[in-house]
Amino acid sequence: MQTSLAAFIRDTAEGKEAESILRSCVHCGFCTATCPTYQLVGDELDGPRGRIYLIKQVLEGTPATSKTRDHLDRCLTCRACETTCPSGVRYGRLADIGRHVVEQQVPRTGGDRLLRWALRAVLPRPALFGPMLAAARALKPVLPAALAQKVPPRRAPGRRPAARHARRMLVLEGCVQPSIAPGINAAAARVLDRLGVSLVVAESAGCCGAVAHHLSAHDAALDQMRRNIDAWWPGIEAGAEAIVITASGCGAMVKEYGALLAADPVYAQRAARVTGLSRDLSEVVAAELARPGAALPPRPAPGRRVAFHAPCTLQHALRLRGQVEPMLAALGLEPTDVPDAHLCCGSAGTYSILQPELSRQLLQQKVAALKSDAPQSILTANIGCLGHLQTGCDLPVEHWIEAVDRLWPDGQEPDEPGHPAQ
Ligand code: SF4
Ligand code: SF4
Repeated sequence: MQTSLAAFIRDTAEGKEAESILRSCVHCGFCTATCPTYQLVGDELDGPRGRIYLIKQVLEGTPATSKTRDHLDRCLTCRACETTCPSGVRYGRLADIGRHVVEQQVPRTGGDRLLRWALRAVLPRPALFGPMLAAARALKPVLPAALAQKVPPRRAPGRRPAARHARRMLVLEGCVQPSIAPGINAAAARVLDRLGVSLVVAESAGCCGAVAHHLSAHDAALDQMRRNIDAWWPGIEAGAEAIVITASGCGAMVKEYGALLAADPVYAQRAARVTGLSRDLSEVVAAELARPGAALPPRPAPGRRVAFHAPCTLQHALRLRGQVEPMLAALGLEPTDVPDAHLCCGSAGTYSILQPELSRQLLQQKVAALKSDAPQSILTANIGCLGHLQTGCDLPVEHWIEAVDRLWPDGQEPDEPGHPAQ
């Protein structure tokens, strides 16, 4: 595609990156067929090709309007279009740049700004989010049904093994995950402990930066990334083999640290090292299970039928499609068929709050697809998807590592009311 960017952005790093992405698009439209919002809305401008065109116009100097912003707001940033695109167009990065420019040109209303500020203020801070979630759980019986349904049940925190192995990996605790589902990282630690690896936590690490980044607060996101790099660095220097991330949404963000901090003279090198060391949990567990002599769990009889929901961040951003299901099958679980597995569930970070109607439609479609082959439970790999799916599904929803942990005789059994496996 021919481009002629406007003077305000042409010579900036973002402008050059956007221009190279725009020029790689041949406008074929293949991506439109797999775009969830195009499928729902049916408007070219609510599909990737149309959004690319809108961003091009703005970067070439046509002033953005509230309509431009609405079309970009409706994008889930699921990146299904990137998986489909035969030309390798990096739509997600282009959308980040385009949104940032549009955000500056078209101010939001006071209410919208306040909501976005509140999301950025609360979600990345466990010390705020945890007590607010506890209060919502306490008030659940008196909340309106629609609101009560969104409050996740309390889940068991789970035992954490002591760090006893010479082989060590860092683990990202995350921001909302410890409050919503504290058992996930505990299950990951137990599984890897049995396989000869100790997971260790860097206490001063926190939110990966994705919440702020995807709300176009790029400076705040970069600060969170630098803080995490500082927190992990002593562990990296002490020989940690990897940074394990149990939420694929956070994993996709950490994979970008190197690129996003490439121009930072102080952090560029360390950011690239962090990105190189970051691994989704599925990559780590699959590799450890495949080692000769690995302590595998007994095969369950009969195998439990499980539907795996592959988060967009796992399959489209991290490009780890088809990694988890064969591992579950090899361990004796029975993954069911899931039609249209490439489509987003509608969670998409803060999308379910900011675009509730489209999110609800996507959730209904996804739950129907996941239940279509009669599973006994639903497994996923990202805390956002987990919480969102549970609001629209009567089957238990949990992280796949929790189901794998229970294959061992000393795995964590559900021991609290509200645990999804009850
Ligand atoms: S993003 Fe890729 S698939 Fe979509 S129109 Fe451009 S080249 Fe075609
Ligand atoms: S990221 Fe997802 S919702 Fe956005 S344009 Fe691409 S396929 Fe459509």
